[in-house]
This record gives sequence, structure tokens and C-alpha cells, in this order.
Amino acid sequence: MAHPPRTDASVAKQLFLGEILEENLFPYPRIRERDREMLGAINDAVDAFLGDKAADLRRYDREGEQPADFIQALREMGLFGLIIPEEFGGMELSNGAYARVLGQTSSHDSSVSLTIGAHSSIGMKGLLLFGSDEQKQRYLPRLASGELIAAFCLTEAGAGSDSAAIRTRAVRNDDGSWTLDGEKIYITNGGIAGFYTVFARTDTAEGKITAFIVDADLPGVSRGPHEDKMGIRASSTTTVAFSGVRVPPENVLGPVGKGFKVAMSILNSGRTGLGGGAVGGMRNLIRLSTAQANGREQFGKPIAEFGLVRAKIAQMAIDCFAAESTVWMVAGLIDGGHSDYSVEAAISKVFASEAIQRCAHEALQIAGGNGFMREFPYEQVTRDSRILSIFEGTNEILRLYIALSGLKVAGASLGELQAAVGKIFNDPIKGFGVLGGYTGRRVREATGYGIDRIGFELPGTLRRPAATLEQYASELSRAGDRLLRRHGKAVTDMQYHQQRLADVAIDLFVGLCVLSRAASLVAGNHREAEDAVRIARVFARQARRRMARNLRALERNDDLQMEKLAASTLARGSYPFDVA
Ligand SMILES: Cc1cc2nc3c(=O)[nH]c(=O)nc-3n(C[C@H](O)[C@H](O)[C@H](O)COP(=O)(O)OP(=O)(O)OC[C@H]3O[C@@H](n4cnc5c(N)ncnc54)[C@H](O)[C@@H]3O)c2cc1C
Repeated sequence: MAHPPRTDASVAKQLFLGEILEENLFPYPRIRERDREMLGAINDAVDAFLGDKAADLRRYDREGEQPADFIQALREMGLFGLIIPEEFGGMELSNGAYARVLGQTSSHDSSVSLTIGAHSSIGMKGLLLFGSDEQKQRYLPRLASGELIAAFCLTEAGAGSDSAAIRTRAVRNDDGSWTLDGEKIYITNGGIAGFYTVFARTDTAEGKITAFIVDADLPGVSRGPHEDKMGIRASSTTTVAFSGVRVPPENVLGPVGKGFKVAMSILNSGRTGLGGGAVGGMRNLIRLSTAQANGREQFGKPIAEFGLVRAKIAQMAIDCFAAESTVWMVAGLIDGGHSDYSVEAAISKVFASEAIQRCAHEALQIAGGNGFMREFPYEQVTRDSRILSIFEGTNEILRLYIALSGLKVAGASLGELQAAVGKIFNDPIKGFGVLGGYTGRRVREATGYGIDRIGFELPGTLRRPAATLEQYASELSRAGDRLLRRHGKAVTDMQYHQQRLADVAIDLFVGLCVLSRAASLVAGNHREAEDAVRIARVFARQARRRMARNLRALERNDDLQMEKLAASTLARGSYPFDVA
């Protein structure tokens, strides 16, 4: 069962107050029984279908397209209806189960995951989250069957990370319909979709951007050719253009003027799908790399016996377990009804997308020359995984978001804290009353008395990693406070520091997910619990070193020199040195 929301506060944001909201983290969320049964059946079907198709999938990658009969087979397996409610013909999987299905498809081929994932995670997610009953009745049955495939149309040539800068316009006509003009780029499923969620500038009194449902067969809708991409080549990516498209009033999605919120909500809730896909890819890489390491002999023995190869294998296991624990935790929070999960979702996306790239790099290295050959799968996974830190919010933008969201909470609490401390002196009884709950702990924290301890009963073997995370939650909060006190609002422009804080928050949240999962595996006497504990301990030690480095760099760093070097290099536009 997913957790019932004991508190709706965000675990990740509270870390910036030195708080560990353990009631939302322990025990580790379990998948619903109903989903467990369905998952088994779906994953078996996925394996049976895609397992035989390795050669075809390689060909689709080379040719840069999934043929129509292949997409038809995905429809027939129900893979476009994974998260659509049963009443509309879907499977109504939870977020956790959905992330696991995308993991299974990714273990065969990332482009397949993307075709299904872009449809569910972003293409029609807005309809699920914001659609009216009438809109759902009209579209969901056809989206569940895959008769309509969905795409999410936000990005434009001048509006990538700065998505609020879109120029596509929708002008309201006298009859209430809208006329849509503009061009979207890099749209996943652009070439095969019948249903577009489109964001356009409306500049009404209600707000600047509005979301629309646009049928692909409306006059004036056109799409460009498939982009020739580095990775996920078989997945369809095209431009989608709208020229004088009349969109009926009943196709406005969500409130007029609130399209930016619609877009961000879709992206936030979609990130576990991407993370699930990354985890599936890593599981496959571990399978490939262990077989390669055990099978390949050099210097008279399997390369698996060499320390440098073994260290890579161990690190892949740590990365995969950490990413998986985080993605499933975030999915569990969403399934449990938490509404404030955007920072956790961003952390899971950043961590999982970078973890799979590290794994792909090392798996290719373990395969040596074979790794570089197209005949083997490593180069494709390396190419395919590269996109994960670019789309659905670049990892840079997400790091800034993680840090600034945390600092916002810390800043608010700082004001609250000052008010509460003031009250203690003016009216001690009332003042201490104000200090209940988080604020009270915050005072203890800021004054250096004690740190927030995890009260959940952990096996003794996990006490040390828990202590590391407790200590660094406190350190993060102190560091955030210091920055806010020292720089005030100017901290919003200090990206070097924001990245450091974000990286500490990532290590802390991922570490807590790992800890919680390892504790659950121990409690359940899982046969691999010993390895899970080992991973939790090593992860915490690795994280401790990274966190210490990041926090130290808030005080002592080369930022100024780096800024000067960036300035001179950018101004020059070239590299000036050569052998004299
Ligand atoms: C294969 C593929 C599929 C895609 N699918 C879709 C889709 O289905 N729907 C859709 O709407 N979009 C889609 N996109 C678009 C994708 O979301 C954008 O490419 C992404 O948001 C980045 O925008 P950009 O490419 O314009 O890069 P830019 O925004 O120009 O960023 C370039 C670099 O600058 C950095 N940067 C930008 N702003 C800042 C800042 N303020 N601070 C620090 N660094 C910054 C970025 O992190 C990045 O490293 C897809 C893209 C690709 C490549």
C-alpha cells in the first residue's frame, strides 16, 4: 500500500529546515496488490513480445522509425491505456506500477518506452489532471485503446527552458472558439499523434498562457518530418505547426489563462515515468555487464576477477538501487495522495537520468572494443540515455528549482522563526506555543541544540548511514540559513551555490529512500537484504563525501576565478593557447 499522507509537507523541501519527515518515508511504500498482479501479467507480455524483437528494434533504431504494424502491436497490448481509469477502458495503474512497466519496456528498448511514456506521462496527462467530464468521455476511450496517440506541445524555437516565453498565439473569436497560430518543435509522438495538448499565449485578464486540446485532423494542423536524432531514434520527434486552426471552446484544458500551471503540473507528475524508464535501462545494463565480465577472459582469467571491473559492477548496482528506491518512493508519495511532490520528482529525475548515463558509460567500458561496435547494445543505450538529462526540464533547470524551492521554505521559516523568538520575550507562554511542531524544531536546529533524529526503528546495521543523513540534513539547513542571511534575495542569482545546495538535497533525499527501502528489505527478511544494507552504507559514505565537499565549497571555492575565465573565454570566442 502507498502511504496515506500523514502530512502533506514535502519531504525534500523540509530537508532545507533540517527536518526529516520520516512519517512520509518509513516504512517504504509497497505496491498495491491489484497492481502487483497486473504488473506480472503486463511485464510477461512485454517480455514475450519485445524479447523476440531485438533485431527488429535495432533496425528501427537505424532507420529512425517504428513501423505502423509495430505501433499497432503496442496498441493491442493495451500499452497506451496504462494509467487511464478502467471506466474509460484503461488499466488504471498506479504511478508506481506505471513506472515499473516503463522500466520493463526500457530494458528492451528506450524508444518503445518513449512512445508509450510521452503519450501517458505528458501527452494526455493534462486531460486526466484537468479535463472536464465531457472532455474525458470524448477522448479517454480512444486514448486508452491507442486509436488516438497523444503528444505534449510546449517547446518552441525561442522557448525551451524558458517555456513561459512561448509565442504560439490563441485568439478568442466572437463565437467563443479560438484561432491558434504558431509552431512547436521537438515534439515526441509529433508524427503519430491524433491528440495534442498545446500551450499557447492568450494574454487574457485571467493569465498569459492557456492549454488546449487540439485534434490532429483539424484544418491548419501540420507536422514536419521525423527528426534525425542521436538517440531514441525510432521514437517520433517532429515539429507541429498550427496555422489559423479553429479550436472549439470546449477544448480549452483547465482554466483559461492557467496553462503554465497546467504544463508544470503535467511535467511534475510525469517525471516518475522517465525515472522508471531509466531504472529499467540500468537493470538491463547490469545483466549485460555481469555476463560480459564473467564471460570475457584476459590474462588467463575472467575480467570479472579484476578489481577495476568489479568496482564498476558494484557502483552500477548502487546507482540502480538508489535510483529505483527514489523513483518508487516518489511514485508511492504521489499514489498516497501527497500533492506537494514536485521537488521530490525533480530529484528522482535528475538522479535517475545521471545514474543511467554513468551506468551506460561503465557498461560500454567493461565491454571494451565490443562496446563501441553497433552490433552490441551498449552504444545504443549510451546514445538513448543522453536525452534524459535534457528533456522534461533540463537537469540544470531542475537543480535550480530544487535549491530555490528549498530556500523559499527556509526563507519563510526564517521570518517565522524571528517572529516566534520575538514572541518568547514579549509573551513567554504564547511564544513557546508558537514554537510547537516544525518551528520548534527549527529553533532547536538554528540554535545548534540537537538534530532531527529518525525515530523509526532501524536495524543496527543502518544506524550509521541514518546518522550521516541526520547530520547533513542539519548541515543543509544551516548552510541555507547562512546564505539567506548573508545574501538575502541575491541568492536567487547565485547559481553555483544553488547547484551545491541542490546536490546536497539530492544526496539526502536519495539516501533516505535507500535507507527506507533497505530497512524494509531487512524487516521482510528479503534474501538479498544484506546487499541492500551494504548499498545503503556505501551510498551514505559516498554521499557524505560529496555533501561535505559541496558544503565546504559554499565558503571556499574558485567561483570568482571560474567567472573570470568564463567571461574571457566567452568574449574571445576561442581557445587562445598553443605550444609556443
Ligand atoms: C528528443 C527530444 C524530445 C522532446 N520532446 C518534447 C515534447 O514532447 N514536448 C515538448 O514540449 N518539448 C520536447 N522537447 C524539448 C525539450 O523539453 C527541450 O529541449 C528542453 O526543455 C531544453 O530546451 P532547449 O532545447 O531550448 O534548450 P535551452 O533552454 O536553450 O538550454 C540550453 C542549455 O542552457 C541551459 N540553461 C537554460 N536556461 C538556463 C538557466 N536559467 N540557468 C542555467 N542554465 C540554463 C540548459 O540547462 C541547457 O543546458 C524534446 C526535446 C528533445 C531533444
